[in-house]
Amino acid sequence: MTALVQAALRVRRTARSTWGLAAAFLLAAFLLAGFFVPGSRDLGWGHLVWLACWAALFGSRARNAHRLGTDAKSAFELGAFLIVGVQALIQLRGGVGSDLYPLIYVTVALVASFATGRAGIGLVAFALLLGFAVAFLGEHVRDPLLLGLNALFTAGFGALSYLFTRAEIVRVRRQSTLELEAQKAKVRDDTRLFRLVAPSSGGARDEDRLYQTSVQEVRQALYHALQLLHRTLDLHTCVLLMPTNEPEQLRIVELVSKSDDLADGPFSLGAGAVGAAVRRQLTTNLQEIRTGYRGICYYRGPAAVRSFIAVPVLERGHLRAVLCADRVVDRGFSPEEEELLRDSTSHILRAFENERVFMQLERSKVEQEILYRVSQDLSTARTQDAVMEVGLTAAKEISPHDFAAITEYQPEGRKHTVRRASGERALDFHGLRFRDNTSLTAMVVKNRHYLPYRGEFDSKQQVLFTKKAKLKGMESLLVLPLVVREEPIGTLIVAAKRPGAFGAPVRATLQALSNHLAVAMANARLVRQLEELATTDGLTGCLNKRAFLDQMEQKLLAAQRFGRKLSVIVTDLDHFKAVNDTYGHAAGDRVLQALGQVLRRVKRETDIVARFGGEEFCVLCEETDSRGAQLLAERVREELEGTELQTELGPLRVTASLGVATFPDHASTAPDLFVQGDKALYEAKNRGRNQVCTV
Ligand code: GH3
Ligand code: MG
Ligand code: MG
Repeated sequence: MTALVQAALRVRRTARSTWGLAAAFLLAAFLLAGFFVPGSRDLGWGHLVWLACWAALFGSRARNAHRLGTDAKSAFELGAFLIVGVQALIQLRGGVGSDLYPLIYVTVALVASFATGRAGIGLVAFALLLGFAVAFLGEHVRDPLLLGLNALFTAGFGALSYLFTRAEIVRVRRQSTLELEAQKAKVRDDTRLFRLVAPSSGGARDEDRLYQTSVQEVRQALYHALQLLHRTLDLHTCVLLMPTNEPEQLRIVELVSKSDDLADGPFSLGAGAVGAAVRRQLTTNLQEIRTGYRGICYYRGPAAVRSFIAVPVLERGHLRAVLCADRVVDRGFSPEEEELLRDSTSHILRAFENERVFMQLERSKVEQEILYRVSQDLSTARTQDAVMEVGLTAAKEISPHDFAAITEYQPEGRKHTVRRASGERALDFHGLRFRDNTSLTAMVVKNRHYLPYRGEFDSKQQVLFTKKAKLKGMESLLVLPLVVREEPIGTLIVAAKRPGAFGAPVRATLQALSNHLAVAMANARLVRQLEELATTDGLTGCLNKRAFLDQMEQKLLAAQRFGRKLSVIVTDLDHFKAVNDTYGHAAGDRVLQALGQVLRRVKRETDIVARFGGEEFCVLCEETDSRGAQLLAERVREELEGTELQTELGPLRVTASLGVATFPDHASTAPDLFVQGDKALYEAKNRGRNQVCTV
């Protein structure tokens, strides 16, 4: 009984899935029976019903296929319907001899390309059989040549179309494989370029991913470095070029630019201004570049920039990269900026080196995760304090300990300072300063090598910092050097009560941490320098307007809170236009520098001097009333009057007018205080210049 039900169900399932095909065959049977009289125009009801059935069935199967997607069966079904339909059309136009007959070839070509695989071959066979049968049975054609030719063409079109489609599929597949391979090769190239791995290294999947993330890390570090330079030095383009695997070629590895006229490279190693830096292995600094200059390889056309600098990045005497920067404005790169760019190259090198060490160590799973997170945390830590905090937390994660510290070494004065300590008796050591001595810390800095060799500590025999400040109760100790650009900048220290806490594997990881930490500490220092650069005026070294206004706002709030006075002195040179006109702009600049020097010499420790723009300067005097500020202003005026500058046209003396305003006497807000100072200044100008006025 069950077998019967199952058989019935199977029949039902089969019927459901094949009824479309059966319908197509049924419609074809009409053709074989000569239902359409070839060439006859008068269509009976029967013909119309046949056509309507065909259209309805084809439409429903096509809609079904569209909705559910086509598989081999539904593709065959649709193709069969189409072939039957076209055959009927041909019959209506006159059968085998009609001018529409070639339509069957086109249809076969179409369905053979549409239904790939076995369904395609089946459709060609179906078309072949149906064409032959309709002609032979329906139309009673007996001419073997005609029947043979029709069959040959049908089969030929089907086969050609099938082959073309196959070939296209193979071609597309091969192309995407090639693209994938090219992408992989690029990652491998980059890892080699940054020297993260030996060139022979293979490509297991995990390794691939590891290389990829490392390449990304290097790229990210490079990008951030360039972006920082771009923003701080007000650059048009900042680009890092590296030699490729091809000899004598450079290519762009990272770039931050406002230009859309950049060339893709690769570039010839020795050509143009970049080539000059490469050949001499020295910084090339170009100023006042003429328009139309074509010597900067990374621009497609003539460069629109007025100043350019290329700094070669050397690692043990070998060229690893060239860092280039340029500006559209006519302001050459000053020695300080040159120094800063040179400093950045060492950070770039360090990024490569770091990633190399990072790669080697990441193979150990746990360490990989910790170091990865630490490197991220370190890269976001902007101040030295934040960097040290991250460093000590990471050291704790890598190897549990009872005491840890970071010391800093100042080569001038050869002093060590415990900048940070954590754990047991940390407060005893925090801030401890000591001279170069025979302690472990000093020896590690001197030799740039970790100590003690076996990680064992005997507090009776060995001295960590000084003989007085003793670290007691620890059995294990590791002092690691923090080195940047071969220069020791301090140490990372970990100590534990248990013996054998710092074996070789942990030491290697801590060494990697030290490398990261050292770079991050140096970077934090660099960021501070860059910030300083962003807040000072390049010509005079005074604060710039933005930084001054920030300070003024803060100082005014403090003055308000503590009920103190705050005075501002606004200074403007007298007849300065005439100085420029007579002695030239360069002499004018020197006058501005001289005024800056006078102001800084005369001001008190807590006063702030800024160049407000052009030839206007301001001094902000904390806890100073109007009278005190006037005295200071008078001294400035006198000093400047007594200063003589030597120029090509003989000695030059200048004077200035000064205005003084005081909070809260003359104004209650920072902007108003400045306005009042300015008013006083113009009063001084009106009264004949070279004098001090107050509101
Ligand atoms: P006054 O006594 O009324 O102040 O006369 P003045 O000629 O000094 O007039 P003003 O203060 O308006 O002059 C500003 C001049 O300062 C215009 C410009 O030539 C000059 N100047 C502004 N910035 C610079 C600069 O960076 N370098 C040089 N050399 N000159 C500058
Ligand atoms: Mg002025
Ligand atoms: Mg002036």
